[in-house]
Amino acid sequence: MGTTAAPLADVVTLFNSKVSQLTDDEEHKEYLACPFWKHNPVRYLRVKSSCTDGFGFKNIGKLTEHIKRVHCLWNGCEKCRKRFNKAKKEEVDEIKRRHAIGCTQRTKDLTELDAEWMDKYQDEAYGKLNFQRNKATPSQCYEKICRALWGSEKLEIGEPYHLPGFQMSVLRWQFIKDLQSLCGQKKNVERPHPDARQDVAVVALSPPSAEHVDPVLLSTQNLDNLSSAPPPFFRGQHRKDSGVWSYDPSEPPFTRPALPDFAHEEALEEYDPEQEQNNSDYYIAGTWTGSADPYGFPVGQFDRDAESDDIFG
Ligand SMILES: [Zn+2]
Ligand SMILES: [Zn+2]
Repeated sequence: MGTTAAPLADVVTLFNSKVSQLTDDEEHKEYLACPFWKHNPVRYLRVKSSCTDGFGFKNIGKLTEHIKRVHCLWNGCEKCRKRFNKAKKEEVDEIKRRHAIGCTQRTKDLTELDAEWMDKYQDEAYGKLNFQRNKATPSQCYEKICRALWGSEKLEIGEPYHLPGFQMSVLRWQFIKDLQSLCGQKKNVERPHPDARQDVAVVALSPPSAEHVDPVLLSTQNLDNLSSAPPPFFRGQHRKDSGVWSYDPSEPPFTRPALPDFAHEEALEEYDPEQEQNNSDYYIAGTWTGSADPYGFPVGQFDRDAESDDIFG
């Protein structure tokens, strides 16, 4: 080849260290991501919205509010795509019914610029969720949400945090994926064993060849034996095909980058046990129905989700 091939593991390590330098954000490191782009990042490449913008969501409450405003089927007109975000949850059915009578808009299909709406099965399963704050950690709640929406499917990008943000997350995900595809091998990329580095080096910069391994064949079963998998998230059979091969996010390149374990309750730091007794309706139906706001959501926090102000239109 004439040039010295850097071990693939070193390339990945260098890349990850640069990403980490660029995305260091202690303050928002535990903010959650919209699970829709984690589930299918390629679908969201052109979606510029609260799904992909900003810092993510401070806790499960804010995340479920986002999901209600943007993704829940019940909260919008399927014909003209108006959302009923200004209405109280219990009023939406009636407002929607009245809206539908007068809705003469042409049917508007969602495009690649729009966030996804749940289908009726997702809407129903998600609506049954009831997070008991004392019994579930944020990561467990997140997992429940994913399971309701996508069953046993894994997320393409498995960890639930927004950091380092949509763009960087997709870059990292695609870069590692393509690099591995280019090199035609998958093993020991992230955490090479000392005696594995030789093998990695040999194949590191080899061009794709007859031995090039189809990425499709490298999905779950071939990756299952890799260690250090994060908790199982889900993707699977009946998703819409994005045309992109299935990548197992439990694979080492997406090992959580120097973030603390998610299994604690600090995201619920404003939790007040006394208050909770008076607000048993917080975690009903996967959304916030209480008029009081236990987390002190800033007013207007979700304004960018409120595309339809005129609920009687
Ligand atoms: Zn979203
Ligand atoms: Zn309509």
